[in-house]
This record gives sequence, C-alpha cells and structure tokens, in this order.
Amino acid sequence: MQTGIIGVTTENIFPIIKKFLYSDHEIFLRELISNAIDATKKLKALSSLGDFTGELGDLTIRVSLNKKKKTLTVSDRGIGMTSEEVEKYINQIAFSSAEDFLNKYKNQENNLIGHFGLGFYSSFMVSDKVEIITRSYQDNSVAVKWSCDGSPEYQLEETTRDDRGTDVILHFDSESKEFNDENKIEQILKKYCKFLPFEIAFGKEKEWKDGKEISTDKDKIINNTKPAWTRKPADLKDEDYKSFYHELYPSIFEEPLFYIHLNVDYPFSLTGILYFPKIKSNFDIQKNKIQLYCNQVFVTDSVEGIVPEFLTLLHGVIDSPDIPLNVSRSYLQSDSNVKKISNHITKKVADRLAEIFKNDRPEFEKKWDDLKLFIEYGIITDEKFYEKAKAFCLLKNTDNKYFTFDEYETLVKENQTDKNKRVIYLYCTDPVGQHTYVESAKSKGYDVLHMSGQLDPHFINYFEQKLKETSFVRVDSNVIDKLIEKTDQKNINISLELQNDLTPAIQGQLPTTSSFIIQYEPMDEHEVPMMITQNEWMRRMKEMSATGGGMGFYRDMPENYNLVVNTNHPLVQEMIRSIDENMKEKISGIKEDIRKLEVEKTALENSHKDLKYEEITQADKDKLEELRNNIQSLNKQKENKLSEYGKENKLFRQLIDLALLADGMLKGEELTRFVKRSVEMIKA
Ligand code: ADP
Repeated sequence: MQTGIIGVTTENIFPIIKKFLYSDHEIFLRELISNAIDATKKLKALSSLGDFTGELGDLTIRVSLNKKKKTLTVSDRGIGMTSEEVEKYINQIAFSSAEDFLNKYKNQENNLIGHFGLGFYSSFMVSDKVEIITRSYQDNSVAVKWSCDGSPEYQLEETTRDDRGTDVILHFDSESKEFNDENKIEQILKKYCKFLPFEIAFGKEKEWKDGKEISTDKDKIINNTKPAWTRKPADLKDEDYKSFYHELYPSIFEEPLFYIHLNVDYPFSLTGILYFPKIKSNFDIQKNKIQLYCNQVFVTDSVEGIVPEFLTLLHGVIDSPDIPLNVSRSYLQSDSNVKKISNHITKKVADRLAEIFKNDRPEFEKKWDDLKLFIEYGIITDEKFYEKAKAFCLLKNTDNKYFTFDEYETLVKENQTDKNKRVIYLYCTDPVGQHTYVESAKSKGYDVLHMSGQLDPHFINYFEQKLKETSFVRVDSNVIDKLIEKTDQKNINISLELQNDLTPAIQGQLPTTSSFIIQYEPMDEHEVPMMITQNEWMRRMKEMSATGGGMGFYRDMPENYNLVVNTNHPLVQEMIRSIDENMKEKISGIKEDIRKLEVEKTALENSHKDLKYEEITQADKDKLEELRNNIQSLNKQKENKLSEYGKENKLFRQLIDLALLADGMLKGEELTRFVKRSVEMIKA
C-alpha cells in the first residue's frame, strides 16, 4: 500500500470544491459519466486501430446506488488505468487542472454555464470519500484501488478486479443526502445523459404482473445512443425527425412545422436539428427550448448568445465541441467562433426555408400563418436574414391568397399608386370587425391585406423603410377616396356656416371616452353617410408602444378618431335640410347678436392696429375682453341648442350610431337604445 500527498499547492482544495456552485452539485454525475464514456471511446478507438485485440464485449456503463451504504458507483469497461496512470492523471494532472479551474473561475460562478474542466474532482462536492478501482486494458495489468477522504492525502494499493475498466465509488457526505435517492439519480441521468453514445444502465426495468409492479432482469437503459442529430440526414425519414421531436419534448403534442438538420465540419464542428414549433397562440411563445450539447452531453437549455435572438424561439438541439462552455455569456457573444456559428445557423435556417418555399409552395403557404412570427422576427432583428427572407416572406390578403412582396407589388401597383407615385398597400387587422371598410375598399377594386400578427405593426414600419415609395395604410384610417389619393380633392360642398351648425348637433352625441374630430367630405353618394376613421400614424405609434416599442408616451394618449360626414349622401343632405328648417329661426337671433358683437370687436381691434399693447387704454382692453366673453357665451348657447336638437332628432342619432356600430364602438346602454329606436322606426 502506498500513501502520498496529492500534487496540490492549496492547503486543502476540497472545501472550495464543496462550496463551488451549490445549485449545480448535480453535475458531478455528468462529469463521472463523461469520463466513463471517454474511457470507453478510447478503447473502441484502440480496438479499431488494432492496438487492442481483446473482446470489446458489453460496453454498457452501469450506475448503481447502495442506499444503505450511501454509495453511488459508476462502472465502465473502458481502457482503465494502471497504477502509474492513476498517479499521473488523478493525483497530478487532474488535480492541478481542477485547482487551476477553481482559481480562474472562483469569482464568476454565476457566469459559468458548463463548468467543464472540473472533472473527476467535482465528485468531492457531494462525497466525503471517493474510491477508484481500476484495471488497465493492457495485458497482464494489475488492478489498483485509489481512495481519498477529501484531505490532500490519498491511498493507492493493489487490489483484484476480474475485468478491465473503472469503478468510481462515491460515499455521499451528510449534506448530500438528496442524491441518495433513485429518483433523483435517474432524473439527473435523464437530464445530462439522455443522448450519450454508449448505453447507460441504472436499475432494472419494471413490469406489471398480477396487478403488481415487479422488477425484471432487464437493465433499464437511460439513453438513446444514436439520437437523430448524430445520424446522416440521408438515413432519416420525416417520421424519424418527428419522433425525435417528441422524444425531446414528451409534453408537446403538436407536430413541428419544419425541421432543419445542421451538419458542419469546417471551420467549426456543429451538428443539430432545429424545429419550427407550431404555436397555438401568440402568448404561447417560449424561449429556452433549444438544448445545447457537447459531444452528446447535455450542457444547458439556455442558448442566448449562441444562436441569434430570433432563433431562440425554435426548438431542437445543437451539439458542438467548439462552443467554449466555461466562459461568461458576454465573452461568448464576442467570441469569433460563436459568431460564426450563429451566422451559420441563420444562413442554414434561411436556406432551408427558401428550399421548402421553392419546392413545395402550397405546403409552405399552408404553414405560413404559424411560421410568420419567426420569419418576421428574424427579418426585423437580423439584416442578414432579411436579405434571404425577402424572397419567401409572404403577405396574405383578405381572400386568403398569399403573395411574395414582388408579386404583391405587381398585383396592386397599377390600381393603388397615389398621385405622389407611392404604392399604397391597404390592410386590415380584423377582417370581421373592419368588414365595412374592407368591402368599401374592395368595391373600388383595391386589394386588402390581412395583418393581424403580433409583430405586424413593427414589421410594417420596417418594410416601409426598406421598400421605397410604398406605404401601408389601414382601411379604416381614412375615407375611401383619401386612402389612396389619386387626384386633387373635390371642394367641400357645404358652407362653413352649415358645418358650424352641424358639428355641435353631431358632437353632442359621441361617446366622451374618446376624442372625435368631425370632418366633412364630399364622398360618393353611394358610400356610407358617416364613418369613423383613425389616423394611421397615430394608431400605429400607439400599437407599437403597446407591444414594447419603448414609446410609452403614445400608449398613454387617449384614442383619437375622426367622424367623417359624407356631404353628398342624401341622408346627410336631409340632416342639413332639417337643421335649416327647424333650427334656423331658433338660432337666427343668437347668430345676429354674435354677428353684431363680431363687428364691434373687429372695429375695436382695427383701431388698435398701429398701437403697442401698452398704448391701448385700460377701458378698451376691458371692453374687448367683455366682447370676447359675450361672443363665447352666445356661441355656447347656440351650440347647446343645436346639440339638444341633435339629441331629439332620430335621423341624427341613427346615422351616428350606425357609424359607431360599423366600427364596433356602439356598446352597452347606447346599443340597447339603438336597437329599440330602430325597431320603432321600422314600425313607424
Ligand atoms: P478530464 O476528463 O477533463 O481529463 P478528469 O479530472 O475528469 O479530467 O479526469 C482526469 C483523467 O483521469 C482523465 O483524463 C483520464 O485520463 C483519467 N480518468 C478519469 N476517469 C476515468 C475512467 N473512468 N477511466 C479511465 N480513465 C479515467
């Protein structure tokens, strides 16, 4: 028996290892299994080179828990170690590399994602004693047992072991009771080892017999040793990709839309499969679904910084030994290898989508509504992706037809170019709610797009910057003739005085929860008598700030609408006539008084024209003030009378309510009254 002091400079490294990253103590198992896998791989390599001529036999790695003794054993049938190798790899190299590692990362524990490098010694995070029983594959080798209780002293002695390979036996310390539990161990194995390349056995398969669950002799194998991403794309069918998807995400039942098999050897090595998931609703978007592996060992499911932001919405796996794992996130983002990887993934995703679009456009269109969010997100956030995606990014119109941007431009250019040579893309966000507006645009021969996606407001803005001379305009943002202004507008055909009479009669009946501006437009007589529009720009700013555009100012603004009165409509003409008939006399006295006061005011103001303010007498100033106040109060009187009239007048009420109704703004009590009034009018 040999004893010695491990090559260590720190007085005692174990307390540091024990404290290291408390929440991640479970990685000890990943490290031990990785070592077992490496040892097995090396043996296979030696065998294929002819340097090992024995039987490979069963290479299963076995994990076993002895709850009574509180020990966990990881056994492999790999290359094993000679006594010299234990001396070298365990006592010297491994130890000093563990120490280097700790010194280097002591202060940035939270930044670490992989903790690779801590290796074998991470077992001391959970044990107060670790033993290795190992025997080299070499002929006539002697088995050795190494043990260490956490102090820098170790024991090394000869022992017996029938077979080549290594057992690592951990004696759990009192703080690590949680690991002395089958379920816990199985859960850790499933997390990190699910796709390792050699079988890992833990416990026995159970089966139901006579209403009881009994253990069988069959090993329970934790892992799938040949996950789809490690196989050649040519050997895989659609079903294989789908079933691998369900293997990765047992709780997701929807089929993925598309998959992309990544396979790169140069200038970095990367494999993986990415899936476009089917999103049930806009609220269903989840990040952290992509799993990152390093040679089939699970590392993390947070891949930010490694794949481009918009692709973090995808599902799947990425496996690359070239991603530096024991560094901080901010370092990752600036690492040139990682940048290359990220660009490559973007390119691959774009190429694959382009290929599906080209080869099977009907299929692509069928899935577009689900795909759209990813593609729009990519376009907005990644210039390189935009360059490729503009060829297959689709627009859908209200007839559910799909167009590329080029196709759409060709379709609408002739009919939808305005007098300033801008092509206007009309759209709606709710074909049912905005039906009246959509129909009115269609009757003009215009095409209307359906843009109700979560990112559409941002996307529209982005595209207007990219496509010169093109504007997106929502169908309810203006009256039909002004949505796409073709020629100079006709003059309004009613006098300002009449407008001033009509405005208060209408205004008094509009909901006070939003603010309305009354506009007069000589529209076609076949158009609606009144309609509500909302300024495109203003509405868009509000929408974008609502989805996090960083413009809170707009979000807090009240809703602003226009109520447009079609002065050519016969019913509006009748409204004008009825005001004229019924109100003319009632307000003519007030109007006359206002006129007189206005004359007086103008005369007084004219007499002050050449004077500076301080040269005007106080008496004159007071007089002017009084005149203004009187005019204002007379105007108020007049408006009140008109407003009263409007309220009493069924035609006014009905036309305004119809406009509100068409925009979905007539609700509650007002809606009930409208229904009653309509019934009465039908009866009459
Ligand atoms: P790393 O695996 O990163 O090299 P470790 O501390 O985990 O660092 O292991 C140190 C060395 O010990 C390994 O490189 C290997 O040579 C040897 N070793 C560890 N576990 C085994 C094993 N199960 N079988 C054979 N050799 C092993």
